[in-house]
Amino acid sequence: MKVVKLEPIAVSLPMRKPVIMAGEEVRRADNVLVRVTADDGTVGWGEAASAPTMTGETIESMTAAILHLAPVIEGRDPGDIEGALVALDGRMYANTGAKAAVEIALHDLVGRATGRPVHALLGDKTRERAALLGVIGGGDRDGDLADAARKKADGYTAFKIKVGIDAAEADAARTRAICRVLGDEMLISADANQGFSMEAALAFVRAVADAGLDFVEQPVAGHDLAGMAAVAAATTIAIGADEGIHGIDDIRRHHEHKAAHGVSLKAIKLGGLRAVVAAGRLCDRLGMDVNLSCKTGESSISCAAALHAAAVLPGLAWGLTLTCQALASDVARHPVPIRRGHAEVSDGPGLGIEVDEALVQRHRIAVALRSVA
Ligand SMILES: [Mg+2]
Repeated sequence: MKVVKLEPIAVSLPMRKPVIMAGEEVRRADNVLVRVTADDGTVGWGEAASAPTMTGETIESMTAAILHLAPVIEGRDPGDIEGALVALDGRMYANTGAKAAVEIALHDLVGRATGRPVHALLGDKTRERAALLGVIGGGDRDGDLADAARKKADGYTAFKIKVGIDAAEADAARTRAICRVLGDEMLISADANQGFSMEAALAFVRAVADAGLDFVEQPVAGHDLAGMAAVAAATTIAIGADEGIHGIDDIRRHHEHKAAHGVSLKAIKLGGLRAVVAAGRLCDRLGMDVNLSCKTGESSISCAAALHAAAVLPGLAWGLTLTCQALASDVARHPVPIRRGHAEVSDGPGLGIEVDEALVQRHRIAVALRSVA
């Protein structure tokens, strides 16, 4: 089998409601899909969200990167995914979101062609289902309290509260109120998305010391290892790194500097599912906890891919964040099913979802790659 075509398709998907977080408001999800076609007609799909403040990539840059990468994938045997990854890195530095979309599409293609689920291409299955983190991030206290109560009633057992938005004291008061609604049986985290200064981060962790949080994610800037370590030293709440993790070396560095007790892994940051699984295995060896996450507004393609990676990770103590349920319209005929706050791993071929080409076309947007003023 040979790949005959690899194409980027930019889409803009409507959100049910905006997600408000530090430094970013997601009102529509601007993502790039990858459709890879083999010479026998088999099609695989991949996806990556634009994430200018996390990976530096936009839909325009990812579209251009995927077009630049296509010649090293077209003509290849898709079954040699390791070889494809070497070829992608040889052709272009960085661009981990674009590369993740290509890598996910190759896994889907190979899985469909061989009748195997993507998780079987990644390793041995360690779990059948994963607890999903309910994201609480509407930007206002009353709305967040109602959202938390609704998600708890829906069966969610793990939560992520978006903070770093208001003054630390106001964020802490909102967090404490949400924790009271959720109770102590739940896994609860607060994600500042780098939104606090050092002083604000220290004020926040002190103000939520007895609120029942299990971890606080990325309180200060991703590059500020010393700041992360100082916050970690100032509290008994575990500190997680997200925006600071772009590869295996970043995980080691955070561990060595005592800058994080755990990490949030995303395919778009690490360059694909294989890198996510390798990172998860390293975390297991280092004794670090793992949250596996999709970017806000990723469709069932990325969410199914994350679920397959979750199925083989050694540890997933900080839960799985899928984001397709926040979309008003997905691109899959049947979005990844979520029941009682959990997702079941699919054993169907490839990603185990059917992309609806009509929905893709409905949400497709034109990307101007070259314009001259
Ligand atoms: Mg995060």
